[in-house]
Amino acid sequence: MRVVLDHITKRFSDVTAVSEFNATLEDGELVSLLGPSGCGKSTLLNMLSGILPVSGGKIYFDDQDVTSMPPEKRGIGLVFQNYALYPHMTVMGNICFPLETQRVPKAERIERANEIAKLVHVDMLMNRKPSELSGGQQQRVAIARALATNPKVLLCDEATSALDPKTTRQILELIRDINQKLNITVVIITHQMSVVKEVCSHVAILDDGCVAEEGM
Ligand code: ADP
Ligand code: MG
Repeated sequence: MRVVLDHITKRFSDVTAVSEFNATLEDGELVSLLGPSGCGKSTLLNMLSGILPVSGGKIYFDDQDVTSMPPEKRGIGLVFQNYALYPHMTVMGNICFPLETQRVPKAERIERANEIAKLVHVDMLMNRKPSELSGGQQQRVAIARALATNPKVLLCDEATSALDPKTTRQILELIRDINQKLNITVVIITHQMSVVKEVCSHVAILDDGCVAEEGM
């Protein structure tokens, strides 16, 4: 899916977190948003996913204006730095959860969870709890959970920032693999230049809520 951000602005009372941000993410592209802490990356991502309303501007998915569409209707998968897994649920339970919310029948949920778990290589960990997993494994599960409902866009907010360099590379390889195999648009948000160099074909650099630079 093609994503267009057209003059997106976010104001929090006295702070303008994102200012007239423009970008076009082509269908199937792996894009990175790079910028220092506090420059508005998460705010932008949260507007893209619909968690935060915009103060100004428009968001389009293909030709549809989704600016006021609620998050659950947008078809977006989210991955965060802190994994945010449900601690009392197994890996299977975590991956199935978004499908349960969508009232997918149980047999279908399990089949889908097994399929996606294979793709991210956690299929041998299905009965473990998050506390029994390494950071890299937890992030794989979080990615599987984000993909369970077949989103058209995957948004990763500092998804590798809590991981060591080797695990970071493995997770980035996985994300690239998912981007190619599932042909979904992926946005990687990071403050680490090394992450961008590793995976992305297209990068937008943010500075104080504006695009400072764009390139390959
Ligand atoms: P980044 O993800 O790039 O580190 P953020 O998008 O989290 O940056 O924050 C951008 C700016 O917006 C910061 O100055 C931050 O303090 C401010 N900000 C973010 N969320 C809120 C909020 N809910 N209320 C007020 N200010 C906020
Ligand atoms: Mg952030």
